[in-house]
Amino acid sequence: MLFEEVANYYDKLESTSSRLTMIDVLTEMLLKAKKGEVRDIIYMTLGTPAPAFKGIDLGMAEKLAEEAIATATGESRESVDRSFKKTGDLGTSAEQMVSTGRLRRMGSGKFDVGDVMGTMLKIAGTSGPGSKDAKIKLLANLIAASRPVEARYIVRFALGELRLGAGDATILEALSQAATGDREFKDKLEEAYNICSDLGLVGETLMREGKKGIEEFKVTLFEPIRPALAERLPTAEEILARMNGRCAVESKYDGLRTQVHMDRAKKRVEIFSRRLERVTDMFPELTQAALKEVHADSAILDGEAIAYDEATNQFHPFQETMQRKRKHGIEEKSEELPLHLFAFDLLYLNGESYLNRRYAERRDELERVVKGDGTIRFSDRIIAEKPAALDKYFDEAVEDGLEGIVAKDLGAPYIAGARKFSWIKMKRSYKGELEDTVDLVAVGYYRGKGIRTEFGFGGILAAVYDDKRDMFETITRIGTGFTEGMMRTFKSTLEKTRVAKKPARVDALVEPDFWIEPRYVVTVKADEITKSPMHTAGRHREGEGEVGYALRFPRIVGGGIREDKSPEDATTANEIEEMFKQQRKTKISEAAP
Ligand code: ATP
Repeated sequence: MLFEEVANYYDKLESTSSRLTMIDVLTEMLLKAKKGEVRDIIYMTLGTPAPAFKGIDLGMAEKLAEEAIATATGESRESVDRSFKKTGDLGTSAEQMVSTGRLRRMGSGKFDVGDVMGTMLKIAGTSGPGSKDAKIKLLANLIAASRPVEARYIVRFALGELRLGAGDATILEALSQAATGDREFKDKLEEAYNICSDLGLVGETLMREGKKGIEEFKVTLFEPIRPALAERLPTAEEILARMNGRCAVESKYDGLRTQVHMDRAKKRVEIFSRRLERVTDMFPELTQAALKEVHADSAILDGEAIAYDEATNQFHPFQETMQRKRKHGIEEKSEELPLHLFAFDLLYLNGESYLNRRYAERRDELERVVKGDGTIRFSDRIIAEKPAALDKYFDEAVEDGLEGIVAKDLGAPYIAGARKFSWIKMKRSYKGELEDTVDLVAVGYYRGKGIRTEFGFGGILAAVYDDKRDMFETITRIGTGFTEGMMRTFKSTLEKTRVAKKPARVDALVEPDFWIEPRYVVTVKADEITKSPMHTAGRHREGEGEVGYALRFPRIVGGGIREDKSPEDATTANEIEEMFKQQRKTKISEAAP
């Protein structure tokens, strides 16, 4: 398929404000593609050369892209820079300059998707001395061969700023529609996606092998499984009622979600984050430990990595564990802050998937193959049958400086990629009043007024995620909790994701000063959830004419953008609805004599 055709579809995607139209455009594009091209087209549409867990980075900074545009169009660096200042988007600048630049080649447009992806992978593969020039040359050649609209998307893609607004769920629906004629098969596709985290692979399998290929999809080592997530409930009574009177209760560690894959014969270990990024290099001691302490030929462990000082029995919080993300000083840090994996699940063992086994069995097997006294420990836990026992365990966990507990259904399978009541969390902050934080997605921002004029930033419009509709629904405008430094960072970060109009997956009634692509997640605390006609959160859940949920006195907490969460990991409309109900219950019981 010619890249020109893909670029024309992208142009259509960009200009629609309807999600259903997006699905139709994507469907048409997928049907036009050859079977062997589907994978690349899916990655490309998601704006990455490969799934996140492959850790492939193009390493293309704005300066290099400017240089490439200048070389390809015969313009000077200064004029590219001037154009960029005006358009705010190097893709648009490239598009304009390809048609007006001195060389005015306007390309032949006769290269296909595979050529573009091949070049992008070459760009990613060049490193070391001289690599900058090589990257510039590769990109410049592609731009020189492009027509204007192709140049727009090539440059945006190279910079990791494609911004088509098509999320995983939208692509899954389009795939279903393309292969079966309707969107019903989406759930099965999602199941396959949940166990491989690779939409390109799911798409290609569907196109090549049809429904059967998807139904026979298997867990594969080194392809991360999308993590199971927990629902929340505020009391031990409610948790036990949900669990039919008996469950495991584990300590909830506030570290980094970590999935460890190990293959002994290949001596290979890979570690993936909650967002399924490859973070193996961040945890050298865990890589060694996986080979030494897991007594199996191959395994996939799920757990929480956290810096823990055994001598003082002290856990170091999330922020400190995160500092290890900095590339430098990992070796020193691992001595200073010894890291442990608190393993809580076993997802795969010796070539066999454990996802469909009962939790109790998975945990027993985990304790059989790992000794649990080295770098890899087990999450602490009890089996509870009485609310008093659960509460006592919760209080002890909090006293130990932990976040709370996660209750687990002893008979449940591991439900990849979903938030279900087979895991229920209860955190320190929910006891008593409703004051849990929520994770929201920034979908727009405001200019600063008054003393904030100098920062050019006056807060954000924030949304929850509705996983049923695959839409971001606004819930509040947030103007407080930002320090001066944060305002500067927010402005410069959000500015880069500005889009001309409301993205198709955003459902909003209010209009911010600037719309942005839903990409960044922030943690927010508020006094109360209320109902408001201004916001769309949860509105569709209730039927026609309903008003949405809103937050009262929202403020940013936790220092800014949550790098560990993608927009689809934000708090969902369903969770807000549940929290609203719980809040009402708490109020009523407080008011009672
Ligand atoms: P939070 O912000 O409350 O940690 P979250 O949205 O990151 O929530 P949840 O699904 O709500 O994720 O809560 C489960 C998270 O808690 C897991 O992603 C994991 O990182 C962490 N966790 C810590 N200890 C455990 C445990 N023993 N079992 C399961 N998850 C645990």
